[in-house]
Amino acid sequence: MLKAGILGGGQLGRMLLQAAANYPVETYLMENDSNAPAAHLCHHFTKGDICNYNDVYNFGKGLDAITIEIESVNEDALEKLQSEGVKVYPSPSALRIIKNKIRQKEFYTALQIPTSSFIVTKNIAELNEQAAFIPAVHKIAEGGYDGRGVQVIREKNDISKGFDAPAVLEKMVNIHKEISQIVAINDKGEVALYPPVDMVFDPDLNLLDYQISPAEIPEKTKWKIEAIALAIAKGLKSAGIFAVELFIDRNGEVFVNETAPRVHNSGHHTIEANYSSQFDMLWRVILGYPLGNTAAILPAAIINLLGEQGFDGEAYYEGLKEVLQMDNVFVHLYGKKMTKPGRKMGHVTVMSRDKVDLIHTAHKVKHLLKIKTG
Ligand code: ADP
Repeated sequence: MLKAGILGGGQLGRMLLQAAANYPVETYLMENDSNAPAAHLCHHFTKGDICNYNDVYNFGKGLDAITIEIESVNEDALEKLQSEGVKVYPSPSALRIIKNKIRQKEFYTALQIPTSSFIVTKNIAELNEQAAFIPAVHKIAEGGYDGRGVQVIREKNDISKGFDAPAVLEKMVNIHKEISQIVAINDKGEVALYPPVDMVFDPDLNLLDYQISPAEIPEKTKWKIEAIALAIAKGLKSAGIFAVELFIDRNGEVFVNETAPRVHNSGHHTIEANYSSQFDMLWRVILGYPLGNTAAILPAAIINLLGEQGFDGEAYYEGLKEVLQMDNVFVHLYGKKMTKPGRKMGHVTVMSRDKVDLIHTAHKVKHLLKIKTG
């Protein structure tokens, strides 16, 4: 049986392991927290630091394949493992490009993939010299996630909020829609595209609020997005799953925002709403099986369950029974014991043939199900 390792034990790792149970694969997982969401679903748990060279190397050296659920892993160790014959998804070279926002933007430019124009700033002094470039968005090159490495610079006064570290300063896009396009590519170079997802953000928390799939976009825009996602997947020269996040601006122009080299938040609905989920698909890639069918069974919405403001402690799921009574509503709780404001605690997928009903039900779920403390 193939031995496959996952670096990171959060909800993405948890859902990957749920899908792994269908296949002949022995699962290994490394994570610092032995109570992490995925820790109890793997066959073999290793406590360790995914950013530490020795930890990652020692974890991976007996395995056939290794994948990640988060980008902040030690890619030097992955490179060494790859050179010794371990299959790594995504490849360390793709991970290196994506992990660093400067390299990532340069990669898009080199491939002539549309992305908002940018300049590189090494420190705050360099940012100070770029007043002519604003309004813009400052993004730290490494280590930012969930909006924490992103600072909007609308006017001169905002410059002081920028990062005193290597970063990209990119032109502000007048966003009409944010879209995610998930693409799978296997070792043979065969590809499969999921229907695009319309992401709707909570401006306060800067975290994904809810999502609708398939996104309502003109056919031509859809083709553009698919061509971009394919160019990225091929350009990275790596098998795996990639989630390409894009902006459509008010003129209908498409720009790539960023790519995640792994299963993604915007694809959780695929568990119920598509024939082959993104998690199932990644196992098909890793195990060398045929790619799955990405078609939607029904339109779907994902509602993220975030810890309510003002509640910090052991989680209590208010309204859970009411939501479980609803038809075509699927609750996923991530097994996190403690809640805090804004913490991702789970998600709910709603499915409906009718878009109006879908949005109505999504709002109802959001209103009913609250993560508080008991
Ligand atoms: P993270 O990787 O932390 O999620 P993103 O690069 O996705 O950061 O940026 C977070 C959010 O900031 C985006 O979803 C978008 O709403 C906004 N944003 C990012 N870049 C731009 C841009 N160039 N123009 C306008 N808004 C942007």
